[in-house]
Amino acid sequence: MAVQLRRRGYSDFIVLEKADSVGGTWRDNTYPGCACDVPSLMYSYSFESRGSWSKVWSSQPEIEQYLKEISDKRGVTQKIHFGQKLVSGYWSESESRWHLRTESGREYIAQYVVSGVGALHIPNYPNIPGIDEFAGQAFHSAKWDHTVDLQGKRVAVIGTGASAIQFVPFVQKEAGTLTVFQRTPAWVLPRKNFAVPTALRTVLSKIPITRRLARWSVYWGAESLAFGLNGHSNLMRPIEKVAKWNIERSIADPELRRKLMPSYRIGCKRILGSNDYYPALAAPNTTVISDRIEKVTADSIVTADGVSHPVDVIIYATGFHVTDGFDQLALKGARGEDLPSHWHRTGINTHLGITTEGFPNLFFLLGPNTGLGHNSVVFMIEQQIKYIMKAIDAVDSRGAQRVDVRPEVQEHFNKNIQHKLAKGVWTNGGCTSWYLDSQGVNRTVWPGFTWQYWRATKDFKPAEYEIA
Ligand code: NAP
Repeated sequence: MAVQLRRRGYSDFIVLEKADSVGGTWRDNTYPGCACDVPSLMYSYSFESRGSWSKVWSSQPEIEQYLKEISDKRGVTQKIHFGQKLVSGYWSESESRWHLRTESGREYIAQYVVSGVGALHIPNYPNIPGIDEFAGQAFHSAKWDHTVDLQGKRVAVIGTGASAIQFVPFVQKEAGTLTVFQRTPAWVLPRKNFAVPTALRTVLSKIPITRRLARWSVYWGAESLAFGLNGHSNLMRPIEKVAKWNIERSIADPELRRKLMPSYRIGCKRILGSNDYYPALAAPNTTVISDRIEKVTADSIVTADGVSHPVDVIIYATGFHVTDGFDQLALKGARGEDLPSHWHRTGINTHLGITTEGFPNLFFLLGPNTGLGHNSVVFMIEQQIKYIMKAIDAVDSRGAQRVDVRPEVQEHFNKNIQHKLAKGVWTNGGCTSWYLDSQGVNRTVWPGFTWQYWRATKDFKPAEYEIA
C-alpha cells in the first residue's frame, strides 16, 4: 500500500507498526522449518517479482529479507513509525478525520485509515486447565524461544496444523522424546521442496517473460483447486486419495495410521504438504496422542484416559486468533460504536472485505472473507490496494471528504458470499476450522476463484458509496 501511495505521488502518509522491524508474520514466525506453503513466484508482489528465489517454497528468512529489501528500496521504511501499536481511535464526523492513539500515547490524525493488520498475528494459547502451573519451559510456535535447548529433552507439541507440520521434523531430530498431541489430524499431501537450479534462477531473473509465465502457471495451477473447494467437493476425492496414499506409504503401524487418517473432506481445513512430517511421527522417539488433553501439571500433560505424560518443554502450535483478531481494532465509527462491538452485534460484514458501513474512510487489506485456501493472498492484497487507491481518487476528485459504503450494497455482498460459502467444503466438509467464527459462519475465506475477486474489485463504483 505504501509503495503504491508513493508511486502515485502521495507523500503525506505514515505506517504504524507495533513491532520494531518490517516483516509481519515473516518476522514473527521464526520456528525451525518455517516456510511459505505457496510457491514464492506467486507469493510475492507482481511489481517486485523475482527469479532469484532459492527454493520453490521459500523459507522464512528469505521472505523476511525480501520484504525488508523492498521496504528500503521503495522508500517505505522511512515512513514507518515502529513500536507504535494502535490501541484506539475514533472518527470525527465534524472534521471528517480519524483520530488514532497508540500504546505509547501518541496521537495521529488522518483522513484515511488502511488496516493492514493481517489475520495471523495474535497467538492462540489453548484454554487447558493448569497451563500456568507448568514448571518447565513453554512457548508458542509464533514466539519461538531460541534460547531453549531441546537436545535430549522430553518435548510435547500441542496442535498439528500448518505450523506444527513444518517444525515437528526438526524437533523430532533434536528431542530425546517427542509427544505430539493431536486434536484433529490434517490432510497432508506429499511435497518435496526443490532448490531452484542456478541456471534456472539466472533465466528467471534475466528474462522477465519467463518469470511471468512461471508465475502464471503457478497461479492457474492453484486456481484449479477452487472448483473442488467451492461446491464440487467430489472433485477433491482424487486429491484425498493421494493424501491417503501419503499416510499409507509413510506409516507402517496400523494404529498410528488410524490416528492420522482424517475423517473429513480434504480442503475443509487448510491442505498441508510435507514429505518429512509423517516420517517424524513414525520415528521411534515420537508418540502421537489423540486423546483429549485434560490438564497440565507442573511436569506433565494429563489426557482424558488418565495417563500422565511427563514433559520438560511444551510447544503450543495452537494457531492464532483469526475471526476474533479484529477485537483488537478498537476504532469507533460514525455512530460512536467501536468496530469489535459493532461486528459482535451485526456479524463481521463488509463490502468486498475492504469497507464496512458506518466506518467512513476505513479500508481493510486482507479483511474478512478475502483469505484463501488455494492460492496466494498477495494477489488479493494487490487487488485491494488498487481498489483503495481508486476510492481515494473518487473522494479527492469530487472535492469530497468522506466515503462510506451504502448498507444495502454491503448486505447484498454478504448475502451473496454467504450463499456461495454455504455450498463450500469449509461448511460441508465435516470439520470445524479457524475459518469459521463462533457462530459457525465463514468470515475468513473468499468463495470462488481469485480472478472473480479481481473482476469484483477492478472498478470502484461510486454509486455503491455515499461520498460527501
Ligand atoms: P492452525 O492451523 O490453526 O492449527 C492449530 C492446531 O492446534 C490445530 O491442529 C488445532 O486442532 C490445534 N489446537 C488448537 N487449540 C487446541 C486446543 N485447545 N487443544 C488441542 N489442540 C488445539 O494454526 P497454525 O498451524 O499456526 O497455522 C495457522 C495458519 O497459519 C495456517 O492455516 C496457515 O494459513 C498459516 N500458516 C501458513 C504457513 C505457510 O506456509 N504459508 C505456515 C504456517 C502457518 P483442531 O484442528 O482440532 O482445531
